[in-house]
Amino acid sequence: MDWRVRGLCLREDPDLFFPIGGVNSGMAVLQTDEAKVVCSHCPVTRQCLAWAIDVGPVEGIWGGTTEGERRAMRRSAARESEATDNAA
Ligand code: SF4
Repeated sequence: MDWRVRGLCLREDPDLFFPIGGVNSGMAVLQTDEAKVVCSHCPVTRQCLAWAIDVGPVEGIWGGTTEGERRAMRRSAARESEATDNAA
């Protein structure tokens, strides 16, 4: 079964997971926090986050993270991979 059909976000307003406004917009911050609460109870958070990291830049809250947070994760993973390659 595709993990997406088990996501709790299917029961929520989709707009919640695509906050409008900049990271400093009060409404966007509230929506982001609310979406993250839903993700924190979701049974497929791990799969969702892995997909969002693998697919590359994608808007919205996926796996309990913002695109900015996933970008930081990708950079961190790239640095670790580079350090491992250099050590070999
Ligand atoms: S982790 Fe969040 S965005 Fe991903 S499927 Fe679950 S509720 Fe939806």
